[in-house]
Amino acid sequence: MGLLEIRVFGDPVLRQAALEVRDFDGALARLAEDMALTMREAGGVGLAANQVGVLRRLFTFDDPGDDDHDPSAGAVVNPVLLDASEDSELVDEGCLSFPGLFYPVERQLEVVVRHQDLRGEEHETTLHGFGARIWLHEMDHLNGVLFIDHLARHDRREAMRIMRERDLDPRDVPGVAPAIGG
Ligand code: ZN
Repeated sequence: MGLLEIRVFGDPVLRQAALEVRDFDGALARLAEDMALTMREAGGVGLAANQVGVLRRLFTFDDPGDDDHDPSAGAVVNPVLLDASEDSELVDEGCLSFPGLFYPVERQLEVVVRHQDLRGEEHETTLHGFGARIWLHEMDHLNGVLFIDHLARHDRREAMRIMRERDLDPRDVPGVAPAIGG
């Protein structure tokens, strides 16, 4: 088990679409384990494989608000969005690939997702509120879509400017990871 390097905005892998997982083997389970460890260590609640440089349709998540959360359910493979509510809400959101930045993002309140687990078994999961937000954010990553793509134009411009400036002066990165980062 080990920590993986989280790619930040500017890394082209974040703009690529991940490929379907076909092999449900030990390597996949180890990758998911390392991703979950990396996610928690960084203080995030979601992490997509693209963010550690692997173009596979896999993400890990942690929903702190979910009490009867099955600990083995923290990895989602080959997710497909089946349905989404018309109701949505605008809530501040962050991303581990944009450390320390938070902007309001409009997301649907309820979604239904078909997906597989690490053994390849199929599931259909309904998520509400914060859980739905995390899964939508991570599914976007698997399609090369980033949370800045959902922002109001001035927020998006500011986020990109801050990330570009950090690229020139990497010391200007907050040491504390976001609590709602994905
Ligand atoms: Zn993210």
